[in-house]
Amino acid sequence: MSKQPLSPAEITEMVVGLNRLARNLWWTWTQEAQDIFQELSPRAWQNLYHNAVAVLHEVSERELRARLQDPDFAAHVRRALQDFQAYLTEKNTWAAQHAPETLQRPVAYFCAEFGFHETLPIAAGGLGVLAGDHAKSASDLGLGFVGVSLFYREGYFQQAIDANNWQTEYYTLLNPKNLPVEPVLDARGEPLVCSVDIAMNHVFFQAWRVNVGRVPVYLLDTNRPENEPHFRDLTLRVYGGDSTTRIMQEILLGVGGVRLLRALGVQPSVFHMNEGHAAFLTFELIREKLAAGQSFADAQTATRAECHFTTHTPVEAGHDRFSPQLMDYALHRFCETAGVPLPQWLPLGRVNPDDPNEPFCMTVLALKLSRSANAVSELHGRVTRHMWRGLFPDVPEERVPIGHITNGVHLLGWMKGTVRRFWRRKLMGNGEPASVPLGEDTGLWRPGEGSDWATIVNSPEFWQKMADPNFISDEELWALRYKLRRELIEFARRRLMQQQRVTHGDFIAFDQLLNPDALTIGFARRFATYKRAPLIFSQLDNIVRLARDKARPIQFIFAGKAHPRDDDGKRYIQHIIHLSKYSDLKGHLVFIENYDVHVARQMIAGCDVWLNNPRRPLEASGTSGMKAGCHGSLNLSIMDGWWREAYDGTNGFAIGDDSHPDSVEEQDRRDAANLYRVLTEEVIPCFYNRDAHGIPREWIKKIRRAMVTLVPRFNTWRMVQEYTQKYYLPPTSRS
Ligand SMILES: *Cc1c(COP(=O)(O)O)cnc(C)c1O
Repeated sequence: MSKQPLSPAEITEMVVGLNRLARNLWWTWTQEAQDIFQELSPRAWQNLYHNAVAVLHEVSERELRARLQDPDFAAHVRRALQDFQAYLTEKNTWAAQHAPETLQRPVAYFCAEFGFHETLPIAAGGLGVLAGDHAKSASDLGLGFVGVSLFYREGYFQQAIDANNWQTEYYTLLNPKNLPVEPVLDARGEPLVCSVDIAMNHVFFQAWRVNVGRVPVYLLDTNRPENEPHFRDLTLRVYGGDSTTRIMQEILLGVGGVRLLRALGVQPSVFHMNEGHAAFLTFELIREKLAAGQSFADAQTATRAECHFTTHTPVEAGHDRFSPQLMDYALHRFCETAGVPLPQWLPLGRVNPDDPNEPFCMTVLALKLSRSANAVSELHGRVTRHMWRGLFPDVPEERVPIGHITNGVHLLGWMKGTVRRFWRRKLMGNGEPASVPLGEDTGLWRPGEGSDWATIVNSPEFWQKMADPNFISDEELWALRYKLRRELIEFARRRLMQQQRVTHGDFIAFDQLLNPDALTIGFARRFATYKRAPLIFSQLDNIVRLARDKARPIQFIFAGKAHPRDDDGKRYIQHIIHLSKYSDLKGHLVFIENYDVHVARQMIAGCDVWLNNPRRPLEASGTSGMKAGCHGSLNLSIMDGWWREAYDGTNGFAIGDDSHPDSVEEQDRRDAANLYRVLTEEVIPCFYNRDAHGIPREWIKKIRRAMVTLVPRFNTWRMVQEYTQKYYLPPTSRS
């Protein structure tokens, strides 16, 4: 390392590089890059909620230039910027070998929400998180890919709990200047403005680009001076307002999204509608073809050849349906311009095209106008084929053309820093990558040398090594588990102390909350009622007894938001908080407010057991449990969604079996009993069965099995490859 001071030009280059880095979400899944922003100002890093752009605003250019004269820091920055550049320009990617056509004509992926990181809170839940992870893996794989969504200026709501333990919602205005987004500009350097027809209006919109590694995601924003105030606010909130707002947002997303891509000169090879919200894109594709002189029938056929659809839920309320009157109101001018009156469009969204009273269903539209469609787990595939069999009256149910690709998670994005550093050290020693023999070919692609960390960590061979006590000992794994549990408990104590100030609840000695030695069970997700958050407390006396057992205590950490209009979900939250404050579970149960991806990351890593008890078969896949594996946290779950495919008897715990009764009451009763049984007979004994060294050998064996069997399968690296091979590429070029 040279002791020469850096030249002003070199410093300037690094300052520019850091500003560019902060505006590319690549840093959110790259520990070394993330560490730079944290090191610049640990306090701002925490207070500004890990917002790299805002941290750079907090640190003056003068300070930044001075700090870069520290040779160690400068070396760190230079290394990260080099890695960043290498990532952006890498030619030897999976897609270059397996899907080169997408580099010319990308996959256009439309989704009403994207969950990337806590600094860009524009997702309501699992759907958005999945879309964010899809984009990150598309980038890692080098796929030609553009995402399209909306820019919600107030994002999804922030949750606060009032004095009656009732969820209240508040909204904070996002400032694009402090976010990892860049305005999309035209040739003159002005915001690129496009328009869509909504009701009788021309609604104008601009767009923001989120750089997700190598791929862009465009967020449409109607906050333009040309628009009337109520249209300016159309993109204010995620799924905001009533069904009129909803249909208008969806017209903007679908029709506007296609127009933006055209304005940018992007010619997608396939349009992927991730959930029905985006299905109006088919209307615009048809309109384009009508304008080019095709007949309505031919335009539909040609559009169908360009589209793929993924459905994400068997829950009825998850499928948007609009009345013919609302359709007429919202799409009046669109239909006029297209030259085809609404009554001809309406059958595209109806199971029975001849029923004039049937509402227009976005899922039906998407299914009718896609060349292929899929559900998100094997069981969900079956349920979905049953659900929509009426659309395909000529084929037996099992041949209904809806396949499945089981969801995944973006591994490095979800891996907590503690664990990223842990594996990296294990893998790399302190310097160059230790060569990891990658073993048998499993069909997964890897670059020539097989030495970059992202590739290794996504390879089954790496996780295979977790079975080997010579690679990693029980003691190391147990030490890691203790560390992660303590980090979570300290996080929870800090959060509860902050919550207390806001809500003036009962006095609690925060430093004594939760026990760092106790079996810690986590539950965090949207409080949709089918997920049955309070199920475990339905046998309250039994659970209290387990929690307060001196020798083998258990404790619970809960989090989650209910939809603003879901009073049943809010009652669940109220009930759980009430138990945490006033029942004998006090001190053994906490509710962390304002669930988001940051809270999710803490919880998934620190809990010993990740609880999932939806009413089967309503959890199409579920993804939070997939985030657990690489942290050594074990799933305890109903055999629904992904877990039904994942559980093999050795890699976690199952509640009930591969069946369910028809009656909801009977199902709830039986599941609660099974949950209690597996807790007392399997989970607690296994966790507390320690050898002379205090190590739970059987528990750790399960952790190893979870790492070997779950991590390499349930990730978006595998998932996006599957989408590409099965659905994105034209049939002739699939290998
Ligand atoms: C992973 C995740 C979800 C999805 O959780 P499910 O288990 O699929 O319900 C929802 N919200 C956040 C913030 C997440 O990180």
